[in-house]
Amino acid sequence: MVQDKPVLGLILPCYNEEQVLEDSFQKLNSLFHTLIDDSKISPSSFMCFVDDGSRDSTWEVILQLKSASTFVRGIKLSRNFGHQNALLAGLSSHADHADCLITIDVDLQDDLNAVTQMIDKFRDGYDIVYGVKTRRESDSFFKRNTALFFYFLMRRMGVDIIYNHADFRLSSNRAVKQLFQFNEINLFLRGIYPLIGFRSTCVYYAISDRLAGESKYSMRKMLSFALKGITAFSIAPLRLITTVGIVIFSLSLIAIGYSFYSYFFLNTVKGWMSIVLPIYFLGGIQLLFIGILGEYIAKIYTEVKRRPRFIIDITV
Ligand code: UDP
Ligand code: MG
Repeated sequence: MVQDKPVLGLILPCYNEEQVLEDSFQKLNSLFHTLIDDSKISPSSFMCFVDDGSRDSTWEVILQLKSASTFVRGIKLSRNFGHQNALLAGLSSHADHADCLITIDVDLQDDLNAVTQMIDKFRDGYDIVYGVKTRRESDSFFKRNTALFFYFLMRRMGVDIIYNHADFRLSSNRAVKQLFQFNEINLFLRGIYPLIGFRSTCVYYAISDRLAGESKYSMRKMLSFALKGITAFSIAPLRLITTVGIVIFSLSLIAIGYSFYSYFFLNTVKGWMSIVLPIYFLGGIQLLFIGILGEYIAKIYTEVKRRPRFIIDITV
């Protein structure tokens, strides 16, 4: 079912964004008018600003915007829940009111032209459209490279994640509903979306500077986000224990052979063997067994997630 004039819902997470809100709204407002004039979206489309427990006047600005424009909706979270949860809050409260929902950062570093492309793709029948950054020049050297390394690491550990895609994406109403079946506390949307399946595609855009204000992702938030992504999606670190355990255990067997040889044929210090051997042997065997424990924990870990085991695409 391809929507002719879909109702678009934009979800915009805001954390201490009083400086950018007004500007962003103006840009989005003119985008909405263009899209409506071009008959690409329904006039009942909306933009929902989610105030993620800001400490500045973000919420007051949202209220002002709401009174000035019928496009605007707002959600205020009780405290700062973090970017991912703010997105989820916006999606879950508006999934029923829109045919497709686009999540985009309110600083509008992502190219708005990509929004138009995303809607075109949606009207072509795609359920999920990922926005992928082609250039990250406006990000600092540090941020650019740590981000690249992070994507690389995630992929190496077997997580299906799209390079240079952050949380700028379109999802159809039904894809969003499937998202709610993933009941995980450690929400890492980038990793979950590919698990939903359905028809998906990418649109590419160059990233620009923040409209105003500073990045709300501090070094600490970035690190904890990366750690969350890894531990919520990969058991590779647990596997690593088993692998290291096997290596050390094998080496200890070789060392045992060598120390027997040296005991009988070389003139080593007395007592050397009885000290050195247990070190190798116990070290190896302990790691190996911790690794085995790890394997079971990994099973528990994937079980307690209660992730959906299947998702229905079409029913006839
Ligand atoms: N954000 C949020 N809660 C937070 C941190 C950030 O809702 O705890 C929002 C922020 O307002 C912005 C988006 O998430 O709309 C991305 O944050 P930011 O632009 O600071 O990150 P960067 O683009 O530097 O990665
Ligand atoms: Mg930003």
